Amino acid sequence: MAPIYKIPLLFTLSFILILANFMKAIELNQLKAFLSEPRKVVITTHKGPDGDAMGSSLALYNYLLKKGHSVHVITPNDYPSFLKWMKGDKDVIEYCFYEEKAKKITESAELIFCLDFNTLSRIDTYAPIVEGSNALKVLIDHHQQPDTFDFNFSDTSACSTAQLIFEFFELLGDTDEIDQDIAECLYAGIMTDTGNFRFNSVSSKTHQVVSFLMEKGARNDWVYDKIHDNNSVNRLKLLGYCLSEKMEVISDLGVAIITLTQEELQRFNFKKGDTEGVVNYILSIEGVNVAAFMVERDGIIKISFRSKGDISVNQLARDHFNGGGHINAAGGTASTMEDAITTFIRTIPNYINN
Ligand code: 5GP
Ligand code: MN
Repeated sequence: MAPIYKIPLLFTLSFILILANFMKAIELNQLKAFLSEPRKVVITTHKGPDGDAMGSSLALYNYLLKKGHSVHVITPNDYPSFLKWMKGDKDVIEYCFYEEKAKKITESAELIFCLDFNTLSRIDTYAPIVEGSNALKVLIDHHQQPDTFDFNFSDTSACSTAQLIFEFFELLGDTDEIDQDIAECLYAGIMTDTGNFRFNSVSSKTHQVVSFLMEKGARNDWVYDKIHDNNSVNRLKLLGYCLSEKMEVISDLGVAIITLTQEELQRFNFKKGDTEGVVNYILSIEGVNVAAFMVERDGIIKISFRSKGDISVNQLARDHFNGGGHINAAGGTASTMEDAITTFIRTIPNYINN
């Protein structure tokens, strides 16, 4: 048993820790004041960055540079080449390739923006470096159940983090700083996370923001072309293979699944981003309300879930696949393909009936 005098000591220590964390929480006006002089800033985003992750990060990057800060975007890993046109892309540091450099920059940062993710585990092996830094940590995100950072700007009803970056500029009273480059980064984020403006998360505010971005010079057709009309022949062949050979529909459950092994990816000379969006095709089948895309990569199974209506694949992914996301779009992992498939088929009825 612990000596009796240790108990008050433990209480005092934990009280100090709680207080230290609490005291770091800041208000918007404090953040504004903090940003009123040049700061060393890091912007990071989730592993496997998508259009919203990169569009939000580089929009904020270009804005903060204009305001005189020293800024670095650090991503946990690489991202698809169809996103590598945004201004500032050449300066992005991928933690997995430049660990030492990224560590040094993070350790000396005064402010870290965490964009488009809700919990530090989403930045993978870069998480302990961010966690260990003394910088103020600001979350700007739209995923369900966000953790508490020093400053949280989270809206789970927002269609994209890019829209929230725009709203953040509004809060700072600085939308005048949005130029064509920033507008096109934000446009890319909103366009990709809304499935080209078709998801339920799109609001009249979204269209107002997009209207503003176009007035600032965002070329809607140019951004669309950069992202969607850049397919390799192999990518389209892989899509054809998924739909013609690998699609399973379980009609009585209203569920469709596609699985791919590492060998199949190699057969089509897989490049990052090649399977993005495949899951949406099977959700479009009449009567299908839940779609799952399972792919073997680096020894694990990465899963993308999509659903319709109030079927929460976020909850499914949290409960059974160590993942999360949004109500109708979420992701997670499993250790084997067999486990992924059997767990999915066994548990999904609980989420459909609720
Ligand atoms: P996607 O299927 O397009 O990779 O991801 C769909 C949504 O789920 C995105 O918002 C993404 O951030 C989130 N997501 C994907 N994989 C994971 C995961 O492993 N864990 C968590 N928490 N969220 C994920
Ligand atoms: Mn997003």
